[in-house]
Amino acid sequence: MMKQTNGYITEQQRWQAVEQRDTQADGQFVFAVKTTGIFCRPSCSARRPLRENTAFYATPEAALEAGFRACKRCQPDKLAPERQRVARIAEACRIIESSEVPLTLDELAGRVAMSSFHFHRLFKSVTGLTPNAWQKAHRARRLRAGLAQGKGVTNAIFDAGFQSESAYYHQADAALGMTASQYRKGGARAHVQFVVGTCQLGEFLVAESERGICAILLGENAETLIGELETEFPSSQLTPGDEAFASRVAQVIGFIESPTAEFSLPLDIRGTSFQQQVWQALRSVPPGSTVSYSELAERIGKPAAVRAVAGACAANTLAVAIPCHRVIRSDGGLSGYRWGVERKRQLLENETRRQKE
Ligand SMILES: [Zn+2]
Repeated sequence: MMKQTNGYITEQQRWQAVEQRDTQADGQFVFAVKTTGIFCRPSCSARRPLRENTAFYATPEAALEAGFRACKRCQPDKLAPERQRVARIAEACRIIESSEVPLTLDELAGRVAMSSFHFHRLFKSVTGLTPNAWQKAHRARRLRAGLAQGKGVTNAIFDAGFQSESAYYHQADAALGMTASQYRKGGARAHVQFVVGTCQLGEFLVAESERGICAILLGENAETLIGELETEFPSSQLTPGDEAFASRVAQVIGFIESPTAEFSLPLDIRGTSFQQQVWQALRSVPPGSTVSYSELAERIGKPAAVRAVAGACAANTLAVAIPCHRVIRSDGGLSGYRWGVERKRQLLENETRRQKE
């Protein structure tokens, strides 16, 4: 665990760090030994001085100014080796940020004078991402910012460092959750109207964008549902639905209560391309039947992605229209449900009963 940098303020804290040769304290202060005239970083392996012979300085410069010399062993006037390495990764991040084109691993490693192998490993341990993933994430961020500023789609793509438009379009869904032109057209500030009410399964919220029904949420109370809608559509303008919309909501609720009926309203399905694949596969699971997470993973041709499939099910915002309640554990257990396991059980029972009728 990283200690807080403000943990070495008092003399008592600093002395304790010196006694413990605390490497986390390196760079936070130095200690000087009055009897030898030398100053060290807290982790120095040299023998500890007596406390009464020790003075503390916030920076190496302050110790030098007070007339002490830097220890040759721990070199307190230089960056700690650990920090030097982290500084190189920080430098690599700045290089990525300022580069107009994607950089290869070898190029990046060369720019910070490291071997590709060590650079890759250190980069991952410092940032939690591979250099390539970090680079992609950065480009996606830039693309989003560019589109929000109102740049043309093609310009935003090139500015974001995607090599060509077609290369971009393969990554667009993953980066934005929708295509660039949709985002540009105002996905971020789209108008969403919603209606809250009560049905057999409890409280519901149905929302609609310009493109179609974009949320069907189930829950215990209207406030929580509206909060959920705000979380899902953080930059949309949310307004209570008009009369015409209320009649469409009636159709949605009819469908929720009796999912064997045809759902004919357009859906505005937003998600990554992977989520969309999962949801598409779910929509082909007929009422009254169930599928396991691993079967679903197989159906989309990614048998190893069981956990990601479960994640996509949990991210579904269109209850029943995308029937994530029809996914159960391989052993037949109900597993989780975004809107509560009880509600899942009830939905499945309703469907089985109707199958028999
Ligand atoms: Zn030293």
